[in-house]
Amino acid sequence: MDDADHAAARRELVDGLRRRSDIDERTLAAIESVPRHAFVPERHRSRAYADRPLPIGHDQTVSAPHMVALMTDLLDIEPGDRVFEVGTGCGYHAAVVAEIVGPGNVYSVEYVPELAESARKRLRQLGYDVTVWAGDGQIAFRDEAPFDVAYLTCAPADGVPDSIVDRVQTGGRVVAPVGRVGAQRLVRLTVKEEGVEREDHGGVRFVPMR
Ligand code: SAH
Repeated sequence: MDDADHAAARRELVDGLRRRSDIDERTLAAIESVPRHAFVPERHRSRAYADRPLPIGHDQTVSAPHMVALMTDLLDIEPGDRVFEVGTGCGYHAAVVAEIVGPGNVYSVEYVPELAESARKRLRQLGYDVTVWAGDGQIAFRDEAPFDVAYLTCAPADGVPDSIVDRVQTGGRVVAPVGRVGAQRLVRLTVKEEGVEREDHGGVRFVPMR
């Protein structure tokens, strides 16, 4: 497959998402721009534009494109918004978000040092200005707070830790899978003066947060 084939496969993926869901055009444009094949291991490359999760090594997976699209939509981000991601993985989701908010606005933390290192390199090579840190999401980027939004691509069993919600400014949002494997829900928290409002967006399956 050459670049033109990948671009055609990507267009087909986006057409499918457009037909099957009401994902925002801005999110779809971001999905159409990011070369997902460049984020997945060589042997899975031919399936990069199927709407399914793929293994990325170290027992982790990159989410299916429709899930990345849904979570990106729920963030409700605009150019210039500052974003905190917990769980860089291969860096694909961070790249999709960076397409929308622009260079220098995405801060991502990854627990597995090898994944963090390869995502950092890959994002740089592909021209995405995303800050990647290896470590625990609960302590990352304190000095960069407050963020406009945060999202998790790993599921905390007992709800989003306060340390992460606290890094989002009033009026901001946190999108995350929460709960134990087999009983996870996708939630969106909106941080308000009076407290945190919670919406449920259905059952999901993510790797557990460590
Ligand atoms: N957004 C990623 C999805 C990766 S899967 C992508 O596009 O590829 C979720 C990732 O969360 C895994 O790589 C896992 O190592 C990481 N993770 C789990 N617990 C974490 C924690 N406490 N802090 C940071 N990252 C964590």
